[in-house]
Amino acid sequence: DVSSLVQMLFSLGEMVTATESVNDETFELLGEELNYVVQVVSPEDEDRELLESFDLEFGEDEGDEGDLAIRPPVVTVMGHVDHGKTKLLDALRNANVVDKEAGGITQHIGAYQVTAEVDGDERRITFIDTPGHEAFTAMRARGAQATDIAILVVAADDGVMPQTVEALNHAKAAGVPIVVAVNKIDKPEADPTKVRGQLTEYGLVPEEYGGDSMFVDVSAKSELNLDKLLEAVILTADASLDLRANPHQDAQGLVVEAHLDRGRGPVATVLVQRGTLRVGDSIVAGAGYGRVRAMLDEHGDNITEADPSRPAMVLGLTAVPGAGQTFIVVEDDRMARQIAEKRESRERAAMQAKRRVRRTLEDFMASMEKGASQELNLILKGDVSGSVEALEDALSQIDVGDEVSIRVIDRGVGAITETNVDLAAASDAIIIGFNVRPQGKATEMAEKEGVEIRYYSVIYQAIEEIEAALKGMLKPEF
Ligand code: GDP
Repeated sequence: DVSSLVQMLFSLGEMVTATESVNDETFELLGEELNYVVQVVSPEDEDRELLESFDLEFGEDEGDEGDLAIRPPVVTVMGHVDHGKTKLLDALRNANVVDKEAGGITQHIGAYQVTAEVDGDERRITFIDTPGHEAFTAMRARGAQATDIAILVVAADDGVMPQTVEALNHAKAAGVPIVVAVNKIDKPEADPTKVRGQLTEYGLVPEEYGGDSMFVDVSAKSELNLDKLLEAVILTADASLDLRANPHQDAQGLVVEAHLDRGRGPVATVLVQRGTLRVGDSIVAGAGYGRVRAMLDEHGDNITEADPSRPAMVLGLTAVPGAGQTFIVVEDDRMARQIAEKRESRERAAMQAKRRVRRTLEDFMASMEKGASQELNLILKGDVSGSVEALEDALSQIDVGDEVSIRVIDRGVGAITETNVDLAAASDAIIIGFNVRPQGKATEMAEKEGVEIRYYSVIYQAIEEIEAALKGMLKPEF
């Protein structure tokens, strides 16, 4: 039973309680002790095995050195909020002369390519068109790295801020070189020298100070020095990266963005990482599959093929894949379907497992009795701001001692949205709805993610139930 397992782990030098989750190593240790071979399989491993069973492999170029060709760098724009990431992405997208000549207005498809002239050569650069490091980390969390170079945007009138440092750390952790765009230099109060000094303290030393990071003063608003910024990206890529891929093989890559289009069905923007993707190819992307019916570029023009580092909007999938999931071209539709179906059933199983471990108010009570949880995370949604405030106020008055605490991680007025459920799932929170109902797919999602939503229309009742749950699980005092 559980207590003998706890005891066994204790004798092995691991202190755990019965309800605590343990890490993979502990599992393996326990298995050894019980004469079982315990193998903890990650979803990535599982997927690799699945592909292997079809004689497929994701992530390696095939062929010889001679097959490799230079590919454009893929760039993500990161930085503190309001420092101009979106503006810069827009400016770069629109300022590209070649695009204008092509006559198209660039649309948002999740990624785009521009050309820059460097030392007389036309060089292409791919931008991931979602600012911020959320997209970057979401992809990395799935084991997929799309970004070759990060542009760190720092507003010259504001300097280094918390998210600047966060973004910098993300890029460093991923081993991605950074080009600094010192933005808003059109402003009279801009102090680009100060930004250089600040970043030097974080180990990002400008070339002009003897370091190896390129800093470029720009104005996204006045479209100043954008060409210099693009040049810096190319020079950084050439100096520190060997960006080559084999275009002569079946395509593989990542899903950058995807959605369900009313007229066109599932639409996914993919970034080809190796190989060349062609109309007519059978592909599997996440749990979606199909034959590429058509491909569009960022100008909305039809294209028939996409080479490495090229983003393309793909039509013809059966289901909408998730951003950061991989796509791979396979032999035929049958194989694509088989892989997609296996993935789907596995996803469903994982969902169900996840749902079982998620917390309800009752679970929380039960786990408190065993001395595990210390904090109850709540998200409050109400019909008017007054009711939300009153609810939060009343919650803060609940006196449950020092051993447990209530933490309101988010609050707001209006219906319970998918974003609320997302946050609840990520932070193991319970959603309290006061005179509001869920909207759109929120209920369905909560169901899937195992997030509990509790509805009240009387504040007193909400407080009473939460208080009861908290009190009921207080550990006895000795
Ligand atoms: P993000 O949150 O980093 O994506 O920042 P935005 O791109 O939304 O920009 C925040 C604000 O700064 C907006 O009002 C922009 O118009 C403004 N902004 C962005 N770049 C510049 C610039 O180069 N100069 C000036 N003066 N304002 C800018």
